[in-house]
This record gives sequence, structure tokens and C-alpha cells, in this order.
Amino acid sequence: MSDTSLKQILARDPGEREFHQAVQEIIETVKPVLDRHPEYHRFGILERITEPERLIMFRVPWVDDEGQVRVNRGYRVEMNSAIGPFKGGLRFHPSVNISILKFLAFEQVFKNALTTMPMGGAQGGSDFDPKGKSDEEVMRFCQSFMAGLSHHIGQDTDIPDGGLGVGAREIGYLFGTYKKQRNEFSGVLTGKGLGWGGSYIRPEATGYGIVYFAKEMLATRNETLKGKTCLVSGSGNVAQHTAEKTIDLGGKVLTQSDSSGYIFDPEGIDKEKLSFVKRLKNIKRGRISEYIDKYSGAIFTEADRTLDYNPLWNHKAECAFPCAFEGEIREKDAHNLINNDIKLVCEGADRPLSSEAVRIFLDNKILYAPGKAANAGGVAVSGLEMAQNRMLLNWSAEEVDQRLKTIMKNIHRASLDAAADHGEPGNYLVGANIAGFIRVVNAMLDQGVV
Ligand code: NDP
Repeated sequence: MSDTSLKQILARDPGEREFHQAVQEIIETVKPVLDRHPEYHRFGILERITEPERLIMFRVPWVDDEGQVRVNRGYRVEMNSAIGPFKGGLRFHPSVNISILKFLAFEQVFKNALTTMPMGGAQGGSDFDPKGKSDEEVMRFCQSFMAGLSHHIGQDTDIPDGGLGVGAREIGYLFGTYKKQRNEFSGVLTGKGLGWGGSYIRPEATGYGIVYFAKEMLATRNETLKGKTCLVSGSGNVAQHTAEKTIDLGGKVLTQSDSSGYIFDPEGIDKEKLSFVKRLKNIKRGRISEYIDKYSGAIFTEADRTLDYNPLWNHKAECAFPCAFEGEIREKDAHNLINNDIKLVCEGADRPLSSEAVRIFLDNKILYAPGKAANAGGVAVSGLEMAQNRMLLNWSAEEVDQRLKTIMKNIHRASLDAAADHGEPGNYLVGANIAGFIRVVNAMLDQGVV
């Protein structure tokens, strides 16, 4: 593809910074495939793969506890259904806009392809902020959101999942509304409660999968997680379960964070301390700073957004798992981590590293995994939840966990093999992008111009 055509694709949606970055990265890294297949140009592959099949936007009015009507925006970006029905998370956060959802949906297409399961890519959400809202407000919002979305989704068309700001509570309210509106109890959402169609290990899957992936990466250098010091950011679903599995495999987790700051516990966060974090964040919906009231050996550092680095990433450790938000490891953080002898950086969140930070880790031969490979365990187990719903049965936790391990091992192998085949041995970013891209493109070619 020429620079002119890339410019033309990007020029159609000016201002969509996050989406442009994702498109540019994919196109740059799959260049060896494009060079081998000049015919892709005639079939308009890049033009089609960067254009959502459908983009839905709707008004979400709801009534707050004071009786005041509030209005948020709801979205669903259905990016690509070449290999299966649309599948991907929902995000409720004030920063949500079309550019962010298009970037997430675009990444999701390749992530889902890497799992080798029949799932296309989508993402959706709202600029609603669940933080500080009562349960009743969250429920009324979810009911209105689903009233707008329910016409566009279905177990054979588009199956949304949880995500940032959308946990078990929100999925429950969304599912209840869908069921009532459509008079249909189906597998239209994943991340459901265990008692009503959910899968064992779905809540844990993203975090566990990240650590299984990291284990495979370390094994390529004959190392394990045992005894390794680890920095984990976030304290939500992904961060909690990344910390949990790291502890299980003998690693020492030193940090957890939220948007107000981070805690550093030099003694390590053990299982008991992690249970406290889970209760604090999932039930009490408190702030991470409360950790130091209970565990006085730890230090809390308040977030300071005027800094061009995050002090969390300036502690000495061997492994880093950014599990909170986009762009949380920037250039200076990358230098700080390298100066502190980091060995592995495994993305838990979607794109938590800036492009500069990625480049620095690759140049320094640090083991670096992109989120689309490392955090694919969440959507993979969602795929397993869909399979169980279709068969009206529940696999045991051990069975799902075993399948998750195998899937993560396979994604790791596919990424390494694709990187080596295309002249970039050990580069998981190039490998994951190419392996996912080839699968989607082959399906698109088979299905004609649609
Ligand atoms: P949660 O909402 O459960 O947790 C998000 C965490 O990030 C919270 O600790 C939150 O703190 C923190 N956070 C949010 N905004 C900021 C910010 N601006 N600065 C610092 N910290 C922040 O979300 P998940 O754990 O589910 O998702 C985390 C990431 O993982 C996202 O990028 C998501 O897209 C990605 N992901 C999630 C999957 C899943 O299965 N859940 C699957 C694949 C990817 P606070 O409590 O203050 O808001």
C-alpha cells in the first residue's frame, strides 16, 4: 500500500487520533504480508478492513436519584464479521468516543482472530461514568442503554461482553433488560453470572491468560515467574486476576493502582491482601488509597497528571503488567523501567503503551507482548461461554482453565512463528498482527466483496 492510500484512509476521519494510531501500527507491521500479496490492493483489503461494517450511535436518557433527567451517548462499532458474528466488549467511561471505540474494535478484530475461534470484532459503550453513581442509577442507565442497543445485537449477530467500567453488575442489568424486551433467554451477552448462563473462569480469564502468556514468553529464555518482582497497574478485573495468577506462580506483586494513585507494598501483595483489594474495589467500590489504612507497610502515592511519567513504573522490578488504561506507560516510563533492569513487559490493558515506549522496549530486546495477544484470554473464554450456552451445559472450572491455557499457548506460538516467518524473530507485536491479519483477510477474500 502506498503512503497516499494510507493518507486517504486516515483523511476520511480527521481527528480520530486513537483509531489512526491503531491503523498505522497494523499497516506498518503487516507490510511484509502486503509485499507478498500485491493482489490485496485490487480487492481493496485495507480500505475495507479499516471501515466498520456498521456504526450505531444512540441517545441514552436516564433519571438520576434526584429525579433529574441525564443524557449520555451509546455506541456500538461493528467492525468486521469475516470470521464470525461481531464480538467484543462494552466500556462505560467519560472518555468514550467514536475514535476510541473504533480503535478498540479494530484491535478486537485481530485479537479474536488470534484465538482461532469464530468471532468477528466489535466494541461499544458509553460516555457514562459509573463511578460515584448509586446501584439504582447504574441500573436505570443500563436499562436505557440496552433499550437502544437491543435491536442491533443477538446471539447470531453481535454478542457484547464486559470491559472497562462494565463488570458483573452491569452485565446483569443489561441482560435482564434484553431478556424482557426480546422475550428471549439467549447467549446474547457474555460475562454473565454463573447461575444464569455464565462460564466458570470468565471473570478471571483475561488476567489469568495474561500471566499464562508471560510464562510462555519467559520460558523462551529459560526463566519462570517464580521469585520475580512484578509491577501491576490498575485494581479492576484485569489487574486483580493478573496479580492473583502471578502470586499463584510464585511471583511477588508490588503494586496496584486506580485513577487516584497507586500503592507500593515492599513486602508483596499476598492472597489475603489481594482479597482485601477485591472486596474494596468490587463490593465497597472504594479507593486504592484505603489499602494503606489496613496494611501500614505500604505507601500510597497520589496520581499527578502534570508529570510526564508515572512513579509506579519507577520501582525496581523484573516484570511489568500495565492493566489499567491506554497510554499509561510513556517514553520516560519505558526508560525508567529499563534503567531498573526490567525483563518483561506484558500488556494487560488495551494499548497501555505509547508507540515510543513500544519502540524502546523492542530496541532494547525486552520481552514485550501486545495486549491483543496477551489479553485475548478474556474474549477466548467468552467464546467458550457462547459454546456452552449453545450446548446448554457448563464445563467445570478446571476444564475451562485448561482450555484457556491451551489457547494462550497457541496464541504465543502463532505470534512467534508468524514473526519468524516474516523476518522479525522474537517480535510479538509483528507476529500477533500478522497472524491475526492473515486469518481475517483470507476469510474476506473467500467471501467476495461485501
Ligand atoms: P475495570 O473497570 O475493572 O478496571 C479499570 C482499572 O483501571 C481501575 O482500577 C481504574 O481505576 C483504572 N483506571 C481507569 N482509568 C484510569 C486512568 N485514567 N488512570 C489510571 N487508572 C485508571 O476494567 P478492566 O480491568 O476490565 O479493564 C482494564 C483494561 O483491560 C482496559 O484497557 C480494557 O479495555 C482491557 N481489557 C479488559 C478485558 C476484560 O475482560 N475485562 C478484556 C481485554 C481487555 P478507577 O477505579 O479509579 O476507575
